[in-house]
Amino acid sequence: MASPVRAPLVEDWPVGPRETKTAENFATSAERFVIAHEVGHILHKHLITDSAKVDLAKASLAELDKRPVEQEIEADVSGTFISIESMDKDGIDPRAAVTGIYFFLRAVQLGELVGAIEVDEAHRPAEERLNICDHVIGGRYGSHAPVLRQWARSSDELLERFARAALKERDRRRLVAAARMDEVLRTTTWSMGQRDIARDTALLKEMQSLMSHSPSAVVEALAANLCDADTYRQVLQSASSVEALERDDRWRRHQIAHFIARYAPVPVKQCLGVRFPIMGGQA
Ligand SMILES: [Zn+2]
Repeated sequence: MASPVRAPLVEDWPVGPRETKTAENFATSAERFVIAHEVGHILHKHLITDSAKVDLAKASLAELDKRPVEQEIEADVSGTFISIESMDKDGIDPRAAVTGIYFFLRAVQLGELVGAIEVDEAHRPAEERLNICDHVIGGRYGSHAPVLRQWARSSDELLERFARAALKERDRRRLVAAARMDEVLRTTTWSMGQRDIARDTALLKEMQSLMSHSPSAVVEALAANLCDADTYRQVLQSASSVEALERDDRWRRHQIAHFIARYAPVPVKQCLGVRFPIMGGQA
């Protein structure tokens, strides 16, 4: 919406009022499609789930959001022309509405690609949904369709470049984080005696930063080094003394991974499938 294809992919690209406004326009148009999709559900009198089967007071949002796939398609179809025609009525160029549809579904598609959004029975893959919306545009607006798609097509090219660059950056960060995790688990010492609070704090701080850069690299390294209960018991039993235990590489790696996991955010603990009893509470 501001010649987006020419936007360079460099970090120091200055963001001025014009760029901020462009970003707002994209977001507003995408939001309009999301709301138009929901209005579509209302127009078609789609019920939110089968209320007879669900205790509405206790149901989670995910449970309430279950609809048959046909209803989701109907809502996408209606949402497409509702967002385009309502924008036209509001005196805004309807090409912005089409851009919003593309923009929203491409963002969902990128989410699917990295596993942040799951495709379920009701919500078909974003690419499929985009094809449906695009088909509606062609069918309903006929000879006007190519003009309506103009901005969307050029921003789509930009989004594809962003997606490629983002995935490449993700892989790069993953490699760096995995190498650092390998080093930490290989070289960090651990003893049964006195803790070095300053060192431990610095380690946790670094782990926090690594987790925000590449959570999967951290989770994989921890999972590979945590012993299960049986193995841990074996390690303890086979050590002849505290000194021998401290020389056992498996024990050392487990202690470090355990320490990092204990202070990791809840989703990381869930990924690892570990629980930590509260000190002094019940084990
Ligand atoms: Zn829906």
